[in-house]
Amino acid sequence: MARLATRGPRYTSYPAAPFFTETFTEEDARTQLRAEREVAHTKGISLYAHIPFCSSLCWYCGCNVKVTRDRRQGLAYVQTLLDELRLYRELIGEVELAELSLGGGSPNFLDIDTLKLLTEGICELFPRRQDSLLGIELDPRDTSDEQVRALAALGYQRLSVGVQDFDPEVQETIHRMQSVEQTSELMAGARAAGFTSAGADLIYGLPGQSPETFSKTLDAVIAMAPDRIALFGYAHLPQLRVHQKLVERKPIPGIDERATLLCAAVEQLVGAGYKRVGFDHFALPSDPLAQAVEDQTLHRNFQGFTIARGGPLLACGVTGISDSGKAYWQNLSEIDQWRSEIEAGRLPVARGIALSEDDAIRRSVIYRLMCTGGLEFDGLDQSLAIDSRSYFAAELASLASPAMSELVEIDRDRLDLTDLGFELVRNVSMVFDAYLAGKPPSGSTTI
Ligand code: SF4
Repeated sequence: MARLATRGPRYTSYPAAPFFTETFTEEDARTQLRAEREVAHTKGISLYAHIPFCSSLCWYCGCNVKVTRDRRQGLAYVQTLLDELRLYRELIGEVELAELSLGGGSPNFLDIDTLKLLTEGICELFPRRQDSLLGIELDPRDTSDEQVRALAALGYQRLSVGVQDFDPEVQETIHRMQSVEQTSELMAGARAAGFTSAGADLIYGLPGQSPETFSKTLDAVIAMAPDRIALFGYAHLPQLRVHQKLVERKPIPGIDERATLLCAAVEQLVGAGYKRVGFDHFALPSDPLAQAVEDQTLHRNFQGFTIARGGPLLACGVTGISDSGKAYWQNLSEIDQWRSEIEAGRLPVARGIALSEDDAIRRSVIYRLMCTGGLEFDGLDQSLAIDSRSYFAAELASLASPAMSELVEIDRDRLDLTDLGFELVRNVSMVFDAYLAGKPPSGSTTI
């Protein structure tokens, strides 16, 4: 596996975020939103609210965070978030909230009153319906029992908890000390308070990790029985995130070691009864995400693998990325700039892209590969109104080459990922990516 690794997008969007441009303006975002009004009124919207604050910096962090212990900043930020949502509401009218996700950063940075103000404010603008799903990312090092109970009372059902690795030496190297007890108490407390789903995020490829130490982390996580587990490869990109240089005090696993860590972790999780959901998620068979694999209703977006719920995904807060269905746009990353745009009555758009017809076709192919593990050509022809065998003749020829043929099996009717291709689905997807042609590999490693 290691010899086939390269660098490339994770395809939480297509085109990938580095190909968004500043020629896409806030007026373009407004036009796109107006065009999606009807869909939003029929299906509702998904909302992502980005809370960028953390009270300390993890040195592996790849997010755009604002490190502060001044909790008062949370209230001012949330007041502006609600103003941003009022702009959305003016554009698309009163539509129902199908799903709400609070992520960051650390949403638990907000105190209980501010979480209440935010959640109730959102639900006033976009009313909840009976099947609305509310989820939140929580940091076990910094979340109180009272916060968990208040969140459950506000209607949050899903929590996702950052774990990464429980080994004390790895934790010291990455500057994130978090005990097994803190984590299991948070999950148990949330379940007791009424949360119905808990997820845990893990990272392989961190400095100082070994298959033995990581296996102990997995044992501890499995014992907590989270409904979902996300297993991400560490993306060491110090040229973009200068603070990541701080983790270089310990050797960072190379490609061979990453492949070993990944294969051992997959075996352990599957052995413990978890079903694979795409290349980096796992779910208990009872979880709707595992069911979505069976029903072929799995979807991919900025939060990874999800269940298709339809309607536009609107993001609010700094760096949030919206997906209207036919366009993506990303918000400004500096809080002051983001706020002044909103105060001036403008959507705080930094860059974006409107999908061409070819983009929409390629996105559909890449998502199908990632969500179902294969392509059925007649089905593609029907749903995309193309002759897929000839539209993708060059891509299929490239995939039949000796270098790629270990990743796919292709016959007259279908293309299927092999087991190796399932792990390296990003490599296969890159063949269908028109934006990468002639460009050197960049981004995170595909293992
Ligand atoms: S808690 Fe998450 S977002 Fe905050 S610094 Fe750590 S990794 Fe980054």
